[in-house]
Amino acid sequence: MEKRKVIIIGSGLGGLSTAVILAKSGFKVTVFEKEKQIGGCLQCFKRGNAKFETGMHFLGSAKEGQTLDKILNFLEVKKDLKLFGLDPTGYEIISFRGQKYKFASQKEPFINQMCEYFPSERYNLEKYFSLIEEITQASPLHSLQYSGPDIQTNMKYRFESVNSVLDNIFSDDLIKEVLVGNMPLYAAQKDKTPFSTHAYVMNFYNADSSRIVGGSDSIAFSMKKTIEKYGGEVFASSSVTDIVCQDLKSTGVIVNDSEFYPSDYVISDLHPASTVKLIGKPIRPAFRNRINTLPQTPGVFSIYVEFKGNTMPYMNYNFYGYNKENTVWDCEKYTLNSWPECFLYMHFCQIENPKYAHTGVILAYMRFSEVEKWSGTHVGNRGKDYENFKKLKAEKLLETVEKQVPGLRNCIKNYYTSTPLTYLDYTGTKDGSMYGVAKDVNLGPACRIPHRTRVSNVFQAGQNVNAHGMLGVLVGTVITCSELLTPRKMFELIN
Ligand SMILES: Cc1cc2nc3c(=O)[nH]c(=O)nc-3n(C[C@H](O)[C@H](O)[C@H](O)COP(=O)(O)OP(=O)(O)OC[C@H]3O[C@@H](n4cnc5c(N)ncnc54)[C@H](O)[C@@H]3O)c2cc1C
Repeated sequence: MEKRKVIIIGSGLGGLSTAVILAKSGFKVTVFEKEKQIGGCLQCFKRGNAKFETGMHFLGSAKEGQTLDKILNFLEVKKDLKLFGLDPTGYEIISFRGQKYKFASQKEPFINQMCEYFPSERYNLEKYFSLIEEITQASPLHSLQYSGPDIQTNMKYRFESVNSVLDNIFSDDLIKEVLVGNMPLYAAQKDKTPFSTHAYVMNFYNADSSRIVGGSDSIAFSMKKTIEKYGGEVFASSSVTDIVCQDLKSTGVIVNDSEFYPSDYVISDLHPASTVKLIGKPIRPAFRNRINTLPQTPGVFSIYVEFKGNTMPYMNYNFYGYNKENTVWDCEKYTLNSWPECFLYMHFCQIENPKYAHTGVILAYMRFSEVEKWSGTHVGNRGKDYENFKKLKAEKLLETVEKQVPGLRNCIKNYYTSTPLTYLDYTGTKDGSMYGVAKDVNLGPACRIPHRTRVSNVFQAGQNVNAHGMLGVLVGTVITCSELLTPRKMFELIN
């Protein structure tokens, strides 16, 4: 019998993982990627012999038997992946009001470490962490247990903001700030971001945190190999320019404005604004308008740093620095003078257990409006004023980081920069946003992106369907693949 054909648009984590699962389940899968390099945010780039990750810098829950480990094994990625654990006594360091706070791995060490800073908060910390566990367990997709989901818990914390739940648990103001000090990981916004997002991120990284030795592109290359092993194909430099529909059914896609590829199903790993544009007419104007006006997570300005040989000791943790005293919230609302209000600084792990760092990255929020005037230009050809803009921003950011990491500049051999425009070019994410559509408790289900579309055989995958990040995207993949398989089958396969 002829295999049913699935075309997947985009080779980000969402597209490739969907392709692996469907190829393993007997579908004939073809992935089209517009860029020369596959992977989307899994891509790395090289300057000389310095290698840089662009969007996936550390993973959680990947120790044997943990949630991500199970999924990565099923995707046949784990065997190709070398991980190097971040420091379990402090995988995150939050630098706020002149004090450094460590997040330790695992529940008890985390609470004990926090109690060193906040000795009277043990009871509340226990309550906080138990709530995180309860929320994660209530989601069968995060716990990978196919049982009746606890819908009440699942829904409640999707519609309560991070800060309001913390306000209910803690009375000490400082601990509430510290516990969300790693918020650039999920671009949290006060009164908007659901507590469930915070809970999933905290649980995921607290179980175990590690870097990908050699770079995140190894995940993309591994999945491509597996797709091909099961008879699928992955084509780079192949931009899908139309999803062809007859009535409310797709017959296939057009690639690079020229060739038609027929298929039984189409799955889009793109930002939903791009997907509705490719589908065209069958999407109702009201739905298109809703998708196009959803709030986006902020964009990011990045400095990719190459260090002079053996000068910068390898930092086996992530460093979050705040350049203001009052609160860790609202850094995305910076003014031109106050920027950067916070930053995230990390080292890449090119070899296992490195003594010195060879490369690293510094990230700070940047709104699209700052670079909008250069939209329509392309990487490498945006003109002198754009280069000057980036240089000024880089110097300001380095100056801010240097205050908290003295001696940084002396160790830098070269640096390179990117802006939200770079992400827009390389991934197509709307406004170059870091994590796609922003979740907002006030908008309720209106900011949730369905994995189905009005066209019966076109589905969506990727960070906008469920959540961003390694686990968020893979959970979305399970939801999307369940349409073509069944949810129970998916659980059986993964477990
Ligand atoms: C700066 C940064 C740091 C991050 N750090 C981490 C981290 O440490 N840990 C973590 O878990 N997550 C991290 N994330 C989040 C994570 O990288 C993303 O959530 C995830 O990789 C997104 O995958 P995706 O498949 O949804 O989309 P993408 O990676 O954006 O992939 C979409 C793909 O579709 C392609 N495409 C677009 N249009 C077309 C078209 N018309 N035809 C064909 N192809 C097309 C794009 O070129 C792209 O390759 C980070 C993200 C950023 C931006």
